[in-house]
Amino acid sequence: MAAPTSPSQVPVGVDPNRPSIARVYGGFLGGKDLYEVDRQVMVKINEAVPEAVDIARGNRGFLNRACRFLAQTRISQFLDCGSGLPTAENTHQIVQRFNDEAKVVYVDNDPVVLAHGRALLEDDFRVHMVSADIFQPRSVLENEVVRANLDFTRPLVVLQVGTMHHVEGDHAPEIMREYVDALPSGSYVVFSHFFDPQVPELTEIARRIENILVNGPMGAGRFRTRDEILPMLDGLELIKPNAPSEPGLAVCDEWWPDGPRLTPLSGAARCIVGAVGRKP
Ligand code: SAM
Repeated sequence: MAAPTSPSQVPVGVDPNRPSIARVYGGFLGGKDLYEVDRQVMVKINEAVPEAVDIARGNRGFLNRACRFLAQTRISQFLDCGSGLPTAENTHQIVQRFNDEAKVVYVDNDPVVLAHGRALLEDDFRVHMVSADIFQPRSVLENEVVRANLDFTRPLVVLQVGTMHHVEGDHAPEIMREYVDALPSGSYVVFSHFFDPQVPELTEIARRIENILVNGPMGAGRFRTRDEILPMLDGLELIKPNAPSEPGLAVCDEWWPDGPRLTPLSGAARCIVGAVGRKP
């Protein structure tokens, strides 16, 4: 997105002087929907951690593999919270490749995401875009489009991928609990979160990016430890896709990788973890 030259070029609800997490993340994934303020945040992050792009790529790769995995179960309803800007492979495209009956409801509150999402989905009656605050679970779970399209008496998949690290304070486990409580048995949650591995050189990477996100105009983006993240997955049995002895919460790139890797993971890639949990 070129920097707007007149107010009429700025979509309704967008503040071109305030960076957006959706646009910055989209930029790291190669998207072009950026304003100058978003570019400045990307530059700062890249200066602080040159391999920061590996966090976004690791996260998105995990989301894609988790969706492929779950699309092969018999579940055909997906609630994608904080869905982000459309990329090459979006949740509905992945799951409908396996089951063209699959329904997907995307939820976000970023006006650019909502505009792109609605345009992209216009022709697909099985896919919907909802504007709601994902950190107020009732506003999502009681949303009329969500209720009209997803049947909460049958198993469904809730995605909270790359979202809960934007919750400040210690409310994130409570928010996740509300989503898990609303799900029928046999449902799944796909989850990822910025990670502080508590290894000095990796903690340093985490803190450098966190400082830019938390102290900058976006004001959010916490790298939490395993002990801080695990309570967000309470009430779920974590899938162990690699080996039964491994923890279900894994570095995103190591959660069921597509094959052997040619190069070792960067430090940044080790600063985001993901899990898929099943509600018993
Ligand atoms: N889930 C996608 C992924 O992992 O590729 C996108 C993750 S992106 C880092 C975070 C998304 O959450 C952004 O699109 C942002 O607009 C959205 N988001 C952040 N806070 C939100 C809120 N309170 N309500 C709805 N969406 C929110």
